[in-house]
Amino acid sequence: MRVARQTGYDRLVRRCLRRWIPADHAPWRRVSAWSNVSRQCWYDWRWQWRHLIRTTVDLEQLGRLRPDVAESLRSVAVVYPVVVSPYYASLMDPDDPADPIRRQAVPDLEEVAGLTDLSPDPLGERRLEVVPGLIHRYTDRVLLIVSNMCSTFCRHCFRKRILGRPGVATAVRHLETAVDYIRRHPEVRDVILSGGDPLVLPTSVLARLLRALRSIPHVEIIRLGTRVPVTLPMRVWDPSLLAVLDRYGPIWCLTQFNHPREVTPETHATVQMLLRVGVPVLNQAVLLRGINDDVETQRALHRALVRACVKPYYLHHTDPVRGTHHFRVSLGRGLEIMEGLRGHISGLAIPTYVVDLPDGGGKVPLLPDYRVAVRPDVWVFRNHRGELFAYGVQPTSNETRRLDASDDA
Ligand SMILES: *Cc1c(COP(=O)(O)O)cnc(C)c1O
Repeated sequence: MRVARQTGYDRLVRRCLRRWIPADHAPWRRVSAWSNVSRQCWYDWRWQWRHLIRTTVDLEQLGRLRPDVAESLRSVAVVYPVVVSPYYASLMDPDDPADPIRRQAVPDLEEVAGLTDLSPDPLGERRLEVVPGLIHRYTDRVLLIVSNMCSTFCRHCFRKRILGRPGVATAVRHLETAVDYIRRHPEVRDVILSGGDPLVLPTSVLARLLRALRSIPHVEIIRLGTRVPVTLPMRVWDPSLLAVLDRYGPIWCLTQFNHPREVTPETHATVQMLLRVGVPVLNQAVLLRGINDDVETQRALHRALVRACVKPYYLHHTDPVRGTHHFRVSLGRGLEIMEGLRGHISGLAIPTYVVDLPDGGGKVPLLPDYRVAVRPDVWVFRNHRGELFAYGVQPTSNETRRLDASDDA
């Protein structure tokens, strides 16, 4: 029985890989250090995990970093450790000094310079922890930090205070305490597994956690907050993991693509596998200076995501977290970008722009204001082309019409 089930997921994996990844697709071979790595090794997440890049020297030797900066960046890596998967590193363009993939994964002197008086935890997550690792900020949902490890450490991570730090790791015994808390709180309907990355847990640990959560009748949905589909997609191609996700649904996958170059043939295959075991895939992009803070990049990113069957959910304004200030843009810039999306690309491709308020205030949406005048009976709207329309407020109003130049504002 068990073998038969595994085989089914094994077939699903092979079918999706064949369908979405061209037989001659092997971009890693262009990197001299990986030119001899077979497809079988490269596409095995265990191989990727064993070869995680953990130092600036390794990044330099792989041609991902200029030798003249590697030395100075070592001091940054002491404060904020480096972890990059070979797959994610292979997406970097060594000839582009502003490469959007490198900027997300390779340290920058800015992280330890400048505004170090920013808080490491402006959202006040520590204060909202009800038991170790469990953040209960909204009545009906909790967020559980299950790990301090990821397949790639994002330089813009808003939980930089946790990544790779011993002592703040969420031990497996904490998971039991967290599950007990959830069991005792029937108002909790939605459990978000985050971290660190829940998909870097051993499959057996994740399975045990999901099984425990599923045994609680009031837990309706479970979300996985994971960047694995972006930085280590082959982890999903593990038939035993797919079997676990299939078994303990409804599970939603919330991931984070920030740039259209991250959407690869491997992405398409991965999303298809998740969809076929009943896991919808949504995206929570982060607005990052010099990476995706322009309308063209955001249009391309969100169009690429819907082509890959990923539904854009949030565009996050970057939080004021220590060590990440150089990624921040103004709120006005974020609104300009949202204006450049609505009406110009498929409505399916449009995320909600959100700001996370300090001290556990929660997320609030920000929308460009399409109302240019508000009168008691009539509101005046503009559309994405700047045309004006009067719209009666009351259901009985007959004021609803397009305005033209002869109308007096
Ligand atoms: C973002 C967040 C959630 C989930 O918010 P949604 O708007 O439902 O996606 C829950 N808990 C915490 C602590 C969060 O930061």
